[in-house]
Amino acid sequence: MFDALTQKFNSVFKSLSGKGKITEANVKEAMREVRKALLEADVNYKVAKQFCKDVQEAAMGQEVVKSLHPGQVMVKIVNDELTKLMGPVDTQVYFVSPGPTIIMLAGLQGCGKTTTAAKLAKYLISKGKKPMMIADDLQRPAAIDQLVTLGEQIDVEVYTEDTKDAVRVAKNGIKRCKQGGYDVAILDTAGRLHIDEEMMGEVSDVAKAVTPHQIYLVCDAMIGQDAVTSAKEFNDRLELDGVILTKLDGDARGGAALSVKAVTGKPIKFIGVGEKLDKIEEFHPDRMASRILGMGDVVTLVEKAQEQYDEEEAKKMQTKMQKGTFGFDDFLKQMKAMKKMGGMSSMLKLLPGVGQQLGNMDIDDGEIGKMEGIIHSMTEEERRDPETISASRRRRIARGCGRTPNEVASLVKTFKRSRDMMKVVSSGGMGGLKGLMSG
Ligand code: GDP
Repeated sequence: MFDALTQKFNSVFKSLSGKGKITEANVKEAMREVRKALLEADVNYKVAKQFCKDVQEAAMGQEVVKSLHPGQVMVKIVNDELTKLMGPVDTQVYFVSPGPTIIMLAGLQGCGKTTTAAKLAKYLISKGKKPMMIADDLQRPAAIDQLVTLGEQIDVEVYTEDTKDAVRVAKNGIKRCKQGGYDVAILDTAGRLHIDEEMMGEVSDVAKAVTPHQIYLVCDAMIGQDAVTSAKEFNDRLELDGVILTKLDGDARGGAALSVKAVTGKPIKFIGVGEKLDKIEEFHPDRMASRILGMGDVVTLVEKAQEQYDEEEAKKMQTKMQKGTFGFDDFLKQMKAMKKMGGMSSMLKLLPGVGQQLGNMDIDDGEIGKMEGIIHSMTEEERRDPETISASRRRRIARGCGRTPNEVASLVKTFKRSRDMMKVVSSGGMGGLKGLMSG
């Protein structure tokens, strides 16, 4: 996710840190680089310009120039400004009582609307709700069957009707929802390849007929600025409550995520990070900012872990992260747990410091097997304390597992870096950011 931007930001910060003394001119030059990077990431040009102006002003206000660690202060400022740019977001989904709460999804064809309806239903079930879905995309030929299939997968009722009258389906669907005692109705509406008057007309007729409590626009992050433009057009017609940005897992640039709020005034509520139905996350601007800056997202990681483990285990992991006391065995346990959670490389990128090192490398079973082999070849003492692993021990470990000493060294380095960063980030809030870039 956003790899190019992460790399660019890091090289800008590194070059600032390397300067020893920083002048106003240095900061200006850095901002030119940042602006270029944002434009390459397909961020709206006005947003990019304003962002750099804000960062520069903040930098001058905080006297980065006089600071002993100008690079670090800049990281903090950029982190704060990125958070501001994408937020604030109220991540709550509000429910009405008595129900049902009607959530309407709109969006262009192919943006992932139907998939998102099912993801959202699954998410709501995990929050103790009893949702049903209404198949009201009568335009795309396979949309109804697709929603029915997805509904079966997650055991959620889907209302369908053989007609071209979208308003009728919506109304009857809500009726069924009330009869069935469901508390949320998720309405999948018509998608077209492009915005046209007919689609907009239909979607607004449906909205008028059933007055949804929340209207979310589903947008494909991979189409960058086009996603932002369509969000603006939809918002002019529909009064959106928020945006659900899909396919962020495949978005190397990040332009849509960074521009949606600034351009439309509407926050991103959820993000889609994969095709599977559990690949939906609440959107938290602060966490996204630290992901973009390559500092990982420990909070989301811990939350995901909590979904998998009992609370006790998750607490232990968090404490270990905070204290920085976990050893190779914990590291391995974590890797395996992450694999179980799916999307190995996407999960690993949530670990501070690991994302950048991974680059585009996809960690698969073989990769975990390799780590496991190396770790098993270590003594208990070495597993607890990587500092004890000298060059000769590296050679011994490598012989023991049939790897090269370099491979052992590289695992130790990744482990140390991620452990140190976790300690800093999870214990210190913004203070924890200090020192990250000098690592
Ligand atoms: P619709 O036309 O808007 O209803 O789109 P679909 O729900 O049929 O989705 C179009 C394609 O995008 C499908 O192949 C989905 O599996 C895929 N898709 C949806 N959301 C995501 C996501 O968050 N990540 C990825 N990688 N693919 C997604």
